[in-house]
Amino acid sequence: MKKTTVYEDRAEKRERDRKRHTVACPHCGKPVLDHMEECPYCKGKLEPTVYTPLSDARIRKIRIVTYTVGGLIAAGIIVYLLFFR
Ligand SMILES: [Zn+2]
Repeated sequence: MKKTTVYEDRAEKRERDRKRHTVACPHCGKPVLDHMEECPYCKGKLEPTVYTPLSDARIRKIRIVTYTVGGLIAAGIIVYLLFFR
């Protein structure tokens, strides 16, 4: 049986994780991380597999929620200043 230390196990795990998140650059073939949009070696454009930009619908939803919450807080502050001082 192969004897490994805790540190070797961790190094192996790190290596596996690194390989799992690595893809070959379609332009130069070097390993690049799968979330990168540009190859650090040849500056070629990459298609990120993990990260996808927010869709317009999702941006709109987030904006509505943010404005609503912000508006309610602002209204609460105004009401407090007008009536409870
Ligand atoms: Zn490249």
